[in-house]
Amino acid sequence: MRTGSASGSERGGLRARGGMPRASSRPVPCAMGAFLDDEGGFTTVAVAVSLLLSLTLVFSAASAGWVASRSSEVQRVADAAALAGQNAVASFSTIVQVLDACVLSMGLTGIVTYGAGLVVSCVPGLGAAGAELCSAGGRILEARRGFARSAASGVERLEATLPLLVVANSASCVTANSVGGVSYAGCALPVPATSGSDFSALAADVDDEDLSELSEEVREASDEARRARERADEDLERGWAADCGTTPYCLRERAASLAGLTGPENPDYPSPAGWTFGAPLARARAYYAARLAAERPAGGGAEELTDSACRRAFYVYALSEVRAGSYVELPDGSASMNLPTLPKNAEETRETSLYTASGWPCTDEGDGRTLHCSTGCPGATGAPSGTASLAELEGGAVRECEVCRMSITELGRVASASTSISNGFEHHWRAVVEAAEDYEEATAELADAEARTRELAGQGAESFSAALDQLSLERPTLRPPGAWGCVAVVTRAEGETAPTELTSSFVSGFELPAGAAASAAVLAPDESTAENNVLASFLDSLSTGDSALGGAADGVLELWGELLVGYGSAHGDVSDAASEFLDGLDGVLGGSVGSWLRGRLKAIMADAGLEPVDLRLRKPVLTNTQDVLDKGGFEQAAVVRELVASLPGSASVYDFATSAGLRLVDEVGGELTIAELPLPGTGVSIPLTVNLSRSGEAA
Ligand SMILES: [Zn+2]
Repeated sequence: MRTGSASGSERGGLRARGGMPRASSRPVPCAMGAFLDDEGGFTTVAVAVSLLLSLTLVFSAASAGWVASRSSEVQRVADAAALAGQNAVASFSTIVQVLDACVLSMGLTGIVTYGAGLVVSCVPGLGAAGAELCSAGGRILEARRGFARSAASGVERLEATLPLLVVANSASCVTANSVGGVSYAGCALPVPATSGSDFSALAADVDDEDLSELSEEVREASDEARRARERADEDLERGWAADCGTTPYCLRERAASLAGLTGPENPDYPSPAGWTFGAPLARARAYYAARLAAERPAGGGAEELTDSACRRAFYVYALSEVRAGSYVELPDGSASMNLPTLPKNAEETRETSLYTASGWPCTDEGDGRTLHCSTGCPGATGAPSGTASLAELEGGAVRECEVCRMSITELGRVASASTSISNGFEHHWRAVVEAAEDYEEATAELADAEARTRELAGQGAESFSAALDQLSLERPTLRPPGAWGCVAVVTRAEGETAPTELTSSFVSGFELPAGAAASAAVLAPDESTAENNVLASFLDSLSTGDSALGGAADGVLELWGELLVGYGSAHGDVSDAASEFLDGLDGVLGGSVGSWLRGRLKAIMADAGLEPVDLRLRKPVLTNTQDVLDKGGFEQAAVVRELVASLPGSASVYDFATSAGLRLVDEVGGELTIAELPLPGTGVSIPLTVNLSRSGEAA
């Protein structure tokens, strides 16, 4: 087959892309083949995008390939005209397929990017990156919205020109064969003549409001979790410092100095790592047990006796308190704890059992029943009289001993002395208890925030699924004029009569006048393009483009590319590509909610059963005229005879086509911009323009 034949490809503009169409042995050239360079690929965005534009050039160059040679046979000319007419339909179909794939994959890119944003938003501390991704997803969906709307109206406008393009393209093919003194007239007519397409699905919107709101809430929750986590960490460190960290005194140091605790009873933790609030609790238990066991009066006087009795009472109380305290690590990593607060002065001591416990010995003295620090008090001279509490003493039920002076004030002094200054054990214990209380509060808030994050993540997964449905449920219906085929009728104005057996090769059952012929072509999917590499080539080159997003949103364009190409083949590729993108998120997800959500989104993608766009190219092939006319509901013989009869009488093929019932738009020419294609993640937008200039002003 030769290209650049008489039909006018010279004006088609193919040379602009680095070469004429390569010669091919295929009877009908693949529209794409003409636009690949010698290496079979594209190297720059500009060249790749021009591929899309180039699709359209077949409108003007259509007849270049079909006509094997100048033919003097009217049937051959009719065949060529039918193919040339149908080729306009093929080009149109390809444009719609590509646009549909772009719209669909762009929506998917937006949603998957949104999903990635949600996943990252779940990770405390990554809110900014999550917001960036969500905003990128929103921008892609916004861009898709504009693109889809313009594409829907663009293809409608283009489709309206299709009957005229079919007529013009085929007529110019017929004219091109009118050489050497033989003149032909005729053209191809599309069947059906009018459009039954519905492109409204292209413009169907994807509502991302839910996703946007949820992602915002998720970020708030995870941010709260982050703050709670930071506070908990600070509290833990504060607890550790009081237990092991501060100098010169800390709980551990005091336990060693004051109670002589060593070894496993008094372990040291050089850093908060590995330390828990269980450590000071165990230490306090050992400390008070040791102090209690070692407690002796510092001297023989009544004052020393009272001090010792007070310390002993305090140790007994503290020991029972810390023994009743608890620290339990729960399976979910949190801890349940109760570290008791010990009284720090007389006032607080009154709130405890130290005040109300009836454990102090009494004697009956001359002035009445008197309370002592111990039975060994020198002032206890009368008969023993049971025990009483310090509360009873303060209430006046018993009298204070004038020798030992045991009272709540004396007892409170023990606690206040060791709590208020840093060389007391209780001073550091109190710091530990306060840190533990703050820590518990922070971890409870953390757990709340995490639970809320998880719940929101679940809702996010649902919104993601809903958006995916919106995107994939409705597809456009493509039934342009010529969807069932093109019927060409051609007459030879003068010259010798062609053998009639040729004229009837495609039209059986009746005879046309000598010198007239009919033919028909339909679109057939080209199986060799099932694994369509057109989009792959398109995207290979795009992926070298710079992403304006950078950071977390980097790779969005590649994602779009993979989804776009994925749509051209099988749906498995689509969800794989999306999964890969999600997998590419930072590895900090760990066992977090984000990790859970990612798994969920991947499952949703896999279950969505996204229908791939059929991107097999359609090529025109000759067929029985009868079949095409049948689909159009025509009575073949009558129609074709009528057409042939009216052809020579028409002033032009356009008049002829109009009289045959076609609605032709007024003159088309120049360029029609179908849509602006925004490249996701780049801020670059490329006008998709169809060159509609007619190759020859036939007839
Ligand atoms: Zn006494």
